Amino acid sequence: MSTTLPQPLPITSPVLLADLARTLASDAPLEERFAAMLRQLRDALECTDLRLLWWEASDGPRHELHAEPVRMLLPWDDHLLTTTITTRQPQHGTLLPADSEPNGAFRLQNPTVQSASLPILWHEQCWGVLEVRTQTTAPVTSVAQPLLATLLPLIAAAIATPATTQLTVRSFGGLNVRQQAFLDRAYQTIETPQNLSELLERLLYVALENTGAEAGSIALVDHERGELVVQHYDGYPHEPFGRDMFGEQRRRWSWEYGLSGQVARSGRAALLRDIQRNSDPMNSTPQIRARMAVPISVDGRVLAVLALDSPRSLAFGESEQGFTQALCSAAAGPLRRALWFQPTLEQSVQLNQVFSSLIHGLALLDRQGRLLRYNPAWLDVWGIPPIDLERPFHAPWDLVPLLLPRLIDPLSLNQFCADPQGNPTSEQEAQVLLRDPHQELHLRALPTRDSIGQLTGRLWVVNDVTRENEADRLKREFISIVSHELRTPLTSILGYTEVLMSRPFSPAEQKDFYQTIYDQSNHLSQIVEDLLGMTRIEAGKVTLNQWVVSLRQIIQEVAHQLGPHVASRHSITVHMDQRVVPVYVDRDKVKQILVNLLTNAVKYSPRGGEIIIRVNEQTTLPADHPEGDFTQIAVSDPGIGIAPEDLPKIWERFYRVDNSNTRRIGGTGLGLTITKRLVELHGGRIWVESQLNKGSTFFFTLPQATEDLAWPE
Ligand code: ADP
Repeated sequence: MSTTLPQPLPITSPVLLADLARTLASDAPLEERFAAMLRQLRDALECTDLRLLWWEASDGPRHELHAEPVRMLLPWDDHLLTTTITTRQPQHGTLLPADSEPNGAFRLQNPTVQSASLPILWHEQCWGVLEVRTQTTAPVTSVAQPLLATLLPLIAAAIATPATTQLTVRSFGGLNVRQQAFLDRAYQTIETPQNLSELLERLLYVALENTGAEAGSIALVDHERGELVVQHYDGYPHEPFGRDMFGEQRRRWSWEYGLSGQVARSGRAALLRDIQRNSDPMNSTPQIRARMAVPISVDGRVLAVLALDSPRSLAFGESEQGFTQALCSAAAGPLRRALWFQPTLEQSVQLNQVFSSLIHGLALLDRQGRLLRYNPAWLDVWGIPPIDLERPFHAPWDLVPLLLPRLIDPLSLNQFCADPQGNPTSEQEAQVLLRDPHQELHLRALPTRDSIGQLTGRLWVVNDVTRENEADRLKREFISIVSHELRTPLTSILGYTEVLMSRPFSPAEQKDFYQTIYDQSNHLSQIVEDLLGMTRIEAGKVTLNQWVVSLRQIIQEVAHQLGPHVASRHSITVHMDQRVVPVYVDRDKVKQILVNLLTNAVKYSPRGGEIIIRVNEQTTLPADHPEGDFTQIAVSDPGIGIAPEDLPKIWERFYRVDNSNTRRIGGTGLGLTITKRLVELHGGRIWVESQLNKGSTFFFTLPQATEDLAWPE
């Protein structure tokens, strides 16, 4: 407000200002509010007369109001008024003696009457003028400046915010035939029990369709928090309520704001016509010119507010008001019912969410075995497509055919479904095996009951336990292999030691015994090494200490290391160029790779066989091999070979091909797993070609040392 007033004198009480503000913001029609304000103001300022002029549009009609009763019959100075309006500045004047008054009706005690004319400004516009007369010597505004400076914008706001019309409760007459027919139909649709959201949505649409409103919203009233919670809205060109700080649509508002808030508090329907600027914080759509808000109340308590908007200022006439009120009053009963059931509905929504998100497959069946509902995990666990529950689907008749190609024992599933017929109160458990891919399912069925304890059917809980069973199997195998593998060398060591201690032997015999004890201890230590190595690799604790290394040298060292052990039974031939490129590897790990492969070649080949190591730099690598320069090393033996079905499995932990040969030979099934991980740590790959009873060739690759690596700057 740009009004420049003389310096203040501190006479204004904050209580008075609060009273005036309350008067101006009340629900009463504008004229009533202004009349009350003028009365309060005159008493407070002890002024003789007050008048207020205002207009709602610059070209609109002027309204004029005086503080009642009028005390002084002196005419108001219209010149002063016009100057105030045109300059938008406060004007001051002094009135002349009473002699000039018509009929001498009023005699001034004090000949000087001060008059102040104050513009009511809002957004650069003049919305009216407040004129004050006093019989003081000082200009009135100098005394009351703080009060008036605060009051004038409040008056402006009251003028600029259109007055609301309270709609009186009607007898719902005056509806046109179409509206009456619609209302009858609406009664029927909202009478049937339904969920809250559906009911409110339906109400909003019926209202929109029959009142000519362009847009509207429906909100529930939260009396505890004094808030409105928008449930549905429609027809707005954009999101009318904005978004909150989390980017979620704003839904809650204090009922202190907006027309709906006013209706929620007062319980009375209200209408705003000819809205100039939509200042409703609850809905800031700019094009709205008319807004009607109607409460849905039960026993005097407002449960919801229906708000309708239109861009036409005269959109809501008598019949629209009547229709909306009739609709809202018909909706009270159904709304109360829906609110009553809402907590139950919410609970069921929550349970539904839990049901759907569980990782266990769940299905409800009735007593005849018909599927009533299932969760997504139930389909996943069986690996079947969604089932249309509209049509009857029975376990086992409809389930077994779906699974038939994969069911290893269809009869067991049939049996599982048939059992409850004889004993419906029992709990059952079963294991179902599926193939391609291999899957082990654990089935559990429990009887279900209704609220009075009657049996209703069964709940199936299905879990895929393939991995758990696999882990168990591995654990069992591990224990049996380890105990067997450790026991064998230990028995030898103990046995030979005992023999040696029992009596004296010739030096040659003693040497033989010591050799066996030494070999078995080595073997034992190797098993322990493998187990520890595997654990370290699995824990990701193995790191490479890579250097530029000569492959020739590594192979020579390994051959030397294995020499005495191999030489007695096999021969090892190495094919390698004289000038083979060095590799960039961890020397000890590559030795471990070679030792593992050569030990296997020796273990799984007959005596006298030739084991060949071939180093190749120019070979074509498999299609899925990583890019880069790699040297390929192949270890071939003329041994027992590996059956095609075992080939992919030999890399798994503790996997041992099960045949009489391997049983006799012994091993932990860890060597190849460790070897594969070590090769891959270097960025290489390992694979095998093998023919049963003919022999095997294990290939692996190692990164070549490029010049950069060989001679780092
Ligand atoms: P282990 O030799 O201790 O049993 P490995 O992981 O080294 O464990 O090997 C896994 C399985 O692969 C062996 O049990 C064996 O059946 C098979 N296997 C490995 N190398 C050969 C080979 N050179 N010839 C034939 N079979 C082999």
